[in-house]
Amino acid sequence: MKFQIHALRQDGQKVLLHYDNQLSTLTWQDGTPVVPVQPGSFRDATVVSVNQPGRKGQVRVLKISLGLSCNYECSYCNQRFVPDSDASNPDDIEPFISQLTDALLEPPERIEFWGGEPLVYWKTLQPLAERLRGLYPDTQFSVITNGSLLDADKNEWFDRMGFSVGLSHDGPGQSTRGPDPLSDPEKFADIMDLYARLHSQGRISINAMVHAGNQSRAQIQAWLQQRFGQDVNIGEGAFIDPYDEGGLAATLQTQQDHVRFRALAYKELRQGLASRMSVAQQRIMDFVQSIRTARPASSLGQKCGMDKPNNLAVDLHGNVLTCQNVSAAATAPNGQPHHIGHLSNLQAVKMRSATHWSHRPDCPSCPVLQLCKGSCMFLQGHLWDAGCDAAYSDNVPFLAAAIEYLTGCIPYYIGGDFRDDRKDIFGQVHGVPEQSARRVIPILAYDRTVAA
Ligand code: SF4
Ligand code: SF4
Repeated sequence: MKFQIHALRQDGQKVLLHYDNQLSTLTWQDGTPVVPVQPGSFRDATVVSVNQPGRKGQVRVLKISLGLSCNYECSYCNQRFVPDSDASNPDDIEPFISQLTDALLEPPERIEFWGGEPLVYWKTLQPLAERLRGLYPDTQFSVITNGSLLDADKNEWFDRMGFSVGLSHDGPGQSTRGPDPLSDPEKFADIMDLYARLHSQGRISINAMVHAGNQSRAQIQAWLQQRFGQDVNIGEGAFIDPYDEGGLAATLQTQQDHVRFRALAYKELRQGLASRMSVAQQRIMDFVQSIRTARPASSLGQKCGMDKPNNLAVDLHGNVLTCQNVSAAATAPNGQPHHIGHLSNLQAVKMRSATHWSHRPDCPSCPVLQLCKGSCMFLQGHLWDAGCDAAYSDNVPFLAAAIEYLTGCIPYYIGGDFRDDRKDIFGQVHGVPEQSARRVIPILAYDRTVAA
């Protein structure tokens, strides 16, 4: 799909750029590419759907779901209404290890330990990780925790076992998640002890989510910098997908909400106020790379990667799952089971619960396709619609920032054969964002110098 990107140069002149989301070409009006292109070599992505089930094999990333119990109640949690299957316990470990070692031909590159809140399953997590560390000494281990159950002994263990830790915290929007462990002096001390152990090795990030009640990445960053220091690494950082009515209430409701959020997000990117959030760097540079390498849309899988054969989610009973956020007892919105096979017979796994972006009505003709990659692959119906709307408004500021980075021009309107309500990026009310005297987006200044 071809788009006409209307943009403003630094001197206020209007410029027309041409963008093709299928071929990843971005050219000036006369057809000249905005940057030199060195075509990469790409393989077509696996297209998963109910009629073309996803397969598993050659596992690189193993996600082990310990269960969905959690001691917090985030109102937008994607696991809130997923029926839990049998909880894991230490007796499951040996049968699981035996199935796993039979199934894997090589050590996985990474093993992720998932809850719920994984530390609720401490009695299982500890012996399981020790057993796996013995088998796979070089594999990266990671865990995402709300941090409320940490203590000095657990911190020492995470450090010794070589874990990378993502600490979920929404900064100023934390109240949506529940209690704030950072406001409890004992928990704060335990969290900071783990932070001090892992930060210098780049093994800890604070993972924050953006939602209707927590829209400003600048405020999230400033809040977390105050507690964890200027060089805090902030993981996640994208707008939430809605998985139930609670999540729906935390998305943007009106067209005005959408354009206001886009304008705010873009302004904060330009001012360098979201520079510690990995999502900003990743999405902008991923788009820049798509243009430099002419990455075809046919090579794009889903954003979370769980449609790929080498990303495997399992529970301790050996059940293979759509992803770590569901259970073997759950059914996907398209009526297909999230329980898609068993570790003892990986070749027979069939994932029918997911829908690749190419089978969605709006994705192939969406200007942010190369950044968004189709939102959550199992959502359907009104939750899918709201998630898609949120994903568009989340990604279009990154698209604008990447185009400004490549051309020095600020996009404000996208023409083409797609939804009319999405064309005016920042809305009539907000107009074109105020131009800064700085031509280069601050967060990318260093990289641009290197790349030039
Ligand atoms: S914003 Fe919506 S239409 Fe566009 S790629 Fe994402 S999910 Fe698809
Ligand atoms: S399918 Fe992917 S995006 Fe959807 S809940 Fe699972 S991991 Fe998240």
